[in-house]
Amino acid sequence: KVSLFWHRRDLRFQDNAGLTAALQGEYPVVPLFIFDPEILDKLDNRQDARVTFIYDEVQRLIEEAEAAGGTMLVRYGRPADVFGQLLKELDVAAVHTNHDYEPYAKTRDAAVTELLKNHHVPLHTYKDQVIFERDEVLTKSGQPYKIYGPYKRTWLDKLTEADYHAHTSANHLDKLARVQSGPRPTLADMGFERSSEEIPGRRLYARMLDDYADTRNLPARDSTSRLGLHLRFGTVSIRHLVQRAVEEKSEVWLSELIWRDFFMQLLWHFPFTATESYDPKLRDIQWRNNEDEFRAWCEGRTGYPLIDAGMRQLNATGFMHNRVRMATASFLCKNLLIDWRWGEAYFAEKLLDYEMSSNVGNWQWVAGTGADSQPWFRIFSPDSQLAKFDKQHAYVKQWVPEFGTGRYPKPLVDHPATRDRALAAYRASRDRS
Ligand code: FAD
Repeated sequence: KVSLFWHRRDLRFQDNAGLTAALQGEYPVVPLFIFDPEILDKLDNRQDARVTFIYDEVQRLIEEAEAAGGTMLVRYGRPADVFGQLLKELDVAAVHTNHDYEPYAKTRDAAVTELLKNHHVPLHTYKDQVIFERDEVLTKSGQPYKIYGPYKRTWLDKLTEADYHAHTSANHLDKLARVQSGPRPTLADMGFERSSEEIPGRRLYARMLDDYADTRNLPARDSTSRLGLHLRFGTVSIRHLVQRAVEEKSEVWLSELIWRDFFMQLLWHFPFTATESYDPKLRDIQWRNNEDEFRAWCEGRTGYPLIDAGMRQLNATGFMHNRVRMATASFLCKNLLIDWRWGEAYFAEKLLDYEMSSNVGNWQWVAGTGADSQPWFRIFSPDSQLAKFDKQHAYVKQWVPEFGTGRYPKPLVDHPATRDRALAAYRASRDRS
């Protein structure tokens, strides 16, 4: 008999909550990764860098498992079908996996739970990708927090060393089982090609905590950790990062990690916010949704240098600085009056660190439609943002070399006029509600 450990967004053997529990159980453990066509088929870009990243990280796990004397299984198919097949191939005593909070993940896991139940195989699940999940941080009256400030205070009050203590999975890899691996899918088998996009490594440490608080708003400094992608796919452990932030008293950086937990619990409690504005009063905004203007925004041709620099950085590297994400998002939904969901979908396609909860949460924050948002009537001026955060135009020049020449386009829209237009559209939705 063996136990299966199903990796999803936790592509590491180190400090892995569910894997530790599996390895400490009665049976030898077979780690498993399933490439799910339900997720992959939604990606238009057949050279998606995230798929290459996952593929390479899974290869690394195969090697690590083999070095420890075990076998990592890799399959391609609908997870419920794959499990149906695996139960025929192996004598499975139990399946272990870590929680996943996205709406699709919940449906997928319910289908797998049902299948396993029919075969009398227990499924054990664990918290791994956040410090506090689901209902662990609630208001005094037992409600989910909708505002970040009080959520953060309760989160910090609750935090003890045990919450970020590393799990010992890496010490028990001798408990991995050796089984027949069967054929493993290649990128080509799944209809993908290798991407040549560069993936940021787990670079961080020395720089992340030094001057983060002072420089994190300056896109030209590029002083943030670039860990989003690694948190997304679990190639770093959140506990390890929180431990570092606490030990080095990097409160500002810790606050960012708490925003991540905050948005995860928000999406878990309010899954409809993935596709609908949280604020019922702002569900009837008459978006203009002009396709030409949307294209100009996507391609960085709006004539507003900070916006264009951000979009070009995103298109070229799969990353955009947080300050510029806020400015570009605001420009789309307020100045162009284009539905935040269009922008959210574009970011989802392009960001290497795309995370549904954080993307939706931040888009709704900027659009003013979210549970915790900036007030709907607050509208960034793209020029003031530039003057404040890229005064010397160092970031702009890096991404928009023609800025300041006759080749640079004139502003697509007028800021004061489109600002007033947005305010009127938001006000009208509130009046109608
Ligand atoms: P650092 O500044 O080093 O922060 C460390 C980590 O903290 C990040 O990797 C991330 O996991 C977390 N974090 C930081 N800021 C936020 C935040 N505002 N909300 C939630 N978590 C945060 N972040 C994503 O991870 N995925 C997304 O899809 C995403 N979409 C965004 C869309 C918009 C419109 C905006 C304004 C922000 C978005 N963010 C998203 C948040 C933030 O911009 C990125 O997390 C950050 O820029 C990633 O860079 P970093 O890893 O160097 O972050």
